[in-house]
Amino acid sequence: MNKLLKKHLQYLIIPVLFAVQVILYAHAAPRDRLVLASNGQCRYQVILPEQYQEPLEKTARLISEAFASNGFPVAVVTEDRKDPSRPGIYLGDTRLARENGIWSSQFRDWGYRFKVVGEDLVIGGSCQGERLGVVKGVCDFLHNYAGTRFLAPGGTGIEFLGTPVISVPADLDHSHTPMLKWNFSGNMYADEWLYNIATNHFYDDIQFGGHMWHLAVPYEDYFHIHPEYFALIGGKRLDQEVRSQYCISNARVMELITRYLVGLTDAGAEIVYLAQPDGFRPCECGACYDLYGTGDDWDDKVWLFHIDIARAVQKERPDAKVLMLSYQATTHPPKRISAFPENTMVLLSHTYKEALDEWSRFQVPAGYAAYLQNFGNYFFTNYLPKRTPVWLEAQARRFHEMNIIGLLPDAAITCYGLEGPLYYVWGRMFDDPTGNHAEKLLEEYYSAAFGQAVEPMRAFFGILHDQLEYFSEWLGPRSATHFRVGLDRKPGEVDDNLDWVRVPTSRFGSRGMHRGITDPAQVLSIIYQPGTVLRMEAELEKAEAMAGSDKVKRRLALVRQEMDYLKHLSRVNYLYNAYRISPDRASLDRLAGALDGWHLLLDSFYDPEGKMKPVPGWPEMHPFRNSGRGGLGLVTARWWKDKEPEDNPFAWDRKTIRTNPPVLPE
Ligand SMILES: [Zn+2]
Repeated sequence: MNKLLKKHLQYLIIPVLFAVQVILYAHAAPRDRLVLASNGQCRYQVILPEQYQEPLEKTARLISEAFASNGFPVAVVTEDRKDPSRPGIYLGDTRLARENGIWSSQFRDWGYRFKVVGEDLVIGGSCQGERLGVVKGVCDFLHNYAGTRFLAPGGTGIEFLGTPVISVPADLDHSHTPMLKWNFSGNMYADEWLYNIATNHFYDDIQFGGHMWHLAVPYEDYFHIHPEYFALIGGKRLDQEVRSQYCISNARVMELITRYLVGLTDAGAEIVYLAQPDGFRPCECGACYDLYGTGDDWDDKVWLFHIDIARAVQKERPDAKVLMLSYQATTHPPKRISAFPENTMVLLSHTYKEALDEWSRFQVPAGYAAYLQNFGNYFFTNYLPKRTPVWLEAQARRFHEMNIIGLLPDAAITCYGLEGPLYYVWGRMFDDPTGNHAEKLLEEYYSAAFGQAVEPMRAFFGILHDQLEYFSEWLGPRSATHFRVGLDRKPGEVDDNLDWVRVPTSRFGSRGMHRGITDPAQVLSIIYQPGTVLRMEAELEKAEAMAGSDKVKRRLALVRQEMDYLKHLSRVNYLYNAYRISPDRASLDRLAGALDGWHLLLDSFYDPEGKMKPVPGWPEMHPFRNSGRGGLGLVTARWWKDKEPEDNPFAWDRKTIRTNPPVLPE
């Protein structure tokens, strides 16, 4: 090609490119879109009602931040101070919203609505106390239309993807009622509210007091005047030792529990919780034996007792819901009835497939709630990852099919680095349980969280999730090997109180229980083999070399810290095994060196006052959920707690092991 032709081509290429841009732009902003911002220009303002709650104002600022990240400055003003010559994004109970039939009191639970009115966009939703559907609406607006991703708590946990044109359908009028009415445990942090709401972790003011008969009939108030309210066990009414067991054939006991629940509804509760005592013990009196004609079948007797109470509450407070606990004696559905009263919900403490199958044949009109053991550091894997994305996807989908509308995770999520993609999948599945799926959500997470370093991080987590599958499906709490190994029984037939805990379940009176694996060191050996850890390490190093933005670097720093913890744990575990095989000087030195490394690493997580240091530049993110040095180090002692000290290298005094080698177990 000669020089002249090249020059002509240049002149030709520039107008062609311009024409392509014009066509692309025209394509990006067709008439059926309302364009809020494009071409570096935005006329919009974010408009708050004159009276607003602080979270709504902070969420409005987030819209401003998302737009600004794309070069669009947007002011946040109250409705009385808006610029009347410009259109707006109206949040909550504004006059414009009400004039168009949208006001917060019409929304139930965490619902919201988007509506385009002329050039304006209205985002309305529930806005009462801690129930802020309007905030969820803003989060979803930012996710769906402005490239915002909620990856973790804190500023670094939010990513704004480049969005040169921000637009919504010109005829947008969309109402959304989230699948979940609530999803919280006592360990959710209040200052993570934005992340929680964006990811369907809804707080609500439902009072779950746990096992509650004793709150309605306190031992201290009643035993000395009415010992007959209490269970007859071994020929006498209960004494100080076992205080919260009752004689349920006594009409006053039912009356007191009913009065207690009605009192809670009068104090504002929409849902009241009804649950028999933990470690329930039947009363041995004749009237209790005869009650409901169920004789020794105390499972049905407790159900029928609770159903009578639910009916009594319904008569007095027809709008209130009664949430009954399915647990221990009430694990299985009642046999003598096929449907519950209209006002009844059931809280399932077992959510494995067989338990849900059994309940799915049953009518519970007001829906279910579920008590979850998805995460938490009581697992054999402790602070390390537990579930696979596919397992979480399947759970959310099944919960949707079952009309499970409330979740009580029993432990906090602790591991935002290594489990970050899992929390994302879990939270986002509830946005659209039939349309979303793990693969799509993982991709959304990886590309938003790691930008240029997406490929090695996709590979990193791919290795981890492959390894976790065996644990998640087979070895984790309430999974197959907990029940089936060595037993010709199915989970639904196992009478087990606390099948998820580390300690031997015989302590809790469980029957027919068997676990495939009882030693956490075995689990660690299976999941985190040296080859696996080395491959993960190699991918993480690649990603660290490719990281672009400061946010990506900080997210990788969190993954790095958790990965180092994992690596050192695995190293000690394997070198301890090596020392057992070859208890010689060289093996002992290597193991002692690994233990030194482990303790030095843990020390480096804390400041001189012993407080967990946040990830640099990410003040909201304290790794391992701020666990103290003792707790995090004890991870291992707790894991191995039933072992002899000599079989637990983490309990060794590392100052003396080189000179005074521990005696190994047989
Ligand atoms: Zn009795």
